[in-house]
Amino acid sequence: MPEKKSSEAVIAEFEALTRDAAAVQRETLHRILSDNAGTEYLRGRGLAGRTDAASFRACVPLATHADIEPYIARIADGDASAVLTAGPITSISLSSGTTQGNRKYLPFNQELVKSTMQIYRTSYAFRNRAFPVEDGKALQFIYGSRQFTTKGGLTATTATTNVYRSEEFMSTMRAIQSQVCSPDAVIFGPDFAQSLYCHLLCGLLFADEVRIVSATFAHSVVLAFQTFERVWEELCADIRAGALSPTRVTAPAVRKAVSALLAAPNPALADEVARRCAALSNWYGVIPALFPNARYVHGIMTGTMEHYVKKLRHYAGGLPLVAAEYGASEGWVGANVEPETPPESATFTVLPNIGYFEFIPLKASDGGAAAADTSFAEEEPVGLTEVTVGEHYEVVMTTFAGLYRYRLGDVVKVAGFYNSTPKLKFVCRRNLMLTINIDKNNEHDLQLAVDSAAKILAAEKLEVVDYSSHADVSRDPGHYVVFWELNADGNDDVLQSCCDELDRAFTDPGYVGSRKAGAIGPLELRVLQRATFQKVLRHYLSHGAPVSQFKSPRCVGRNNAGVLQILSGNVVKVFFSAAYD
Ligand code: AMP
Repeated sequence: MPEKKSSEAVIAEFEALTRDAAAVQRETLHRILSDNAGTEYLRGRGLAGRTDAASFRACVPLATHADIEPYIARIADGDASAVLTAGPITSISLSSGTTQGNRKYLPFNQELVKSTMQIYRTSYAFRNRAFPVEDGKALQFIYGSRQFTTKGGLTATTATTNVYRSEEFMSTMRAIQSQVCSPDAVIFGPDFAQSLYCHLLCGLLFADEVRIVSATFAHSVVLAFQTFERVWEELCADIRAGALSPTRVTAPAVRKAVSALLAAPNPALADEVARRCAALSNWYGVIPALFPNARYVHGIMTGTMEHYVKKLRHYAGGLPLVAAEYGASEGWVGANVEPETPPESATFTVLPNIGYFEFIPLKASDGGAAAADTSFAEEEPVGLTEVTVGEHYEVVMTTFAGLYRYRLGDVVKVAGFYNSTPKLKFVCRRNLMLTINIDKNNEHDLQLAVDSAAKILAAEKLEVVDYSSHADVSRDPGHYVVFWELNADGNDDVLQSCCDELDRAFTDPGYVGSRKAGAIGPLELRVLQRATFQKVLRHYLSHGAPVSQFKSPRCVGRNNAGVLQILSGNVVKVFFSAAYD
């Protein structure tokens, strides 16, 4: 079987790369620095042709996005000289902006396409060893994003769209048995809701061939099957008639491409889908019911996506959930080479040739797990192979796409080593989220609090569909507001207990102390109308945010008035904690 052999070849290559990761890192840094020695950014830093790690660290400072923004702006405006890279920057990637508030511009070039393909192939090779897929298709809920042309004539769009548009993408997808069920017109359709409907329809048309169900982020898979619950009868009607609903799908290019697949009435398939849906209880196991030959569900399920794992597991029935890779618009970091590990404990093994990595040790002042306080003790960055198991770090990357000692802003914990390269557990983004005075809570702390309070709901068969938060300082003392969208109405006593538990679950000493002293007021739980987070998603999409990279904002500041207004305008019940009364 040639494909199997090539998977084994990819694994052998990965084994070789990770055996002496320190040497591969030295070589990678040498390549990046020698290729780009003549760039404006590196010239004049005093490297004088040296490419070793010590000289690099001594001459080139750590940088944040704000530091390199002026360089990227010049490239976007048309400066074609060697500003950050010797080779051309082929387009601009826009980060999703849903976690940080604003969208960052980042350089994109052919090197990033290459490393993306390497990461896809590596992760697939390991997945294929655990869950062999010999042929077939992938039902991929992926969406190209809008693009625009910068003043200097470069295309600006999301990194994922830059990848989907590359020549290599489709051939790699074929090579790794992940050929998308839907035609390109669906992926790049102008309207997200229409594309989602068509992805579902195409998936049903190829139901027996579907081997993998995936999306970039798990949220998109959950959203797809929540939508399926609402539109399945219409999908069946379209299949039965052999004609696409004139109201659901109006974009001409999308209609044309999908109508070609839906050429003839197929009442047998429509009946089969309806029969399978009718046999389900509360949509448990809908994915394997509709796609009986699917082997697993794949997508990013870590970090802010962890919240959706429970729902995904419900839809997936017994199908394995495989957590997808760790990377950013800036570049890739690691692949999941242990696909059988449940998403909650997934780790990412750093590929030592896709960039040069450093790690800033983060030591929590209270000796506990590293917090997200931007001011707490940082030590000198260490190299990829110098990290310590169990410790927390901020990731710093130097890439082939013009980023030098760039602080990614993510906190990771070293879970172990694969050969000599570390396996990272994603912890959270480093930016501080909830703070009123001396308290500090990040998205991970919020997630733990929500998980803890949601346990009370489980007994009532209720779920938190999505959540967000806000530090309300409009009155003194300020207090935390947590927004919850639930799947059904909750009893007031139960919700009051949840509110108390949320308040208690923030264990940061600054918070607890301030609560006891009355310097922070009682936590407020605001229960939202159903589908409020769909409104939030639509709000982001209407402002050009990419659905394929959408992450629900876990903390909404006053600078995000639009979203705050949607959340606050859809509140159905309010509770104040009595935990510290
Ligand atoms: P963006 O460039 O907007 O797509 O966002 C990239 C950010 O998404 C990263 O810096 C991480 O914070 C987060 N992210 C990406 N991949 C993962 C992953 N596998 N697990 C958790 N968070 C991730």
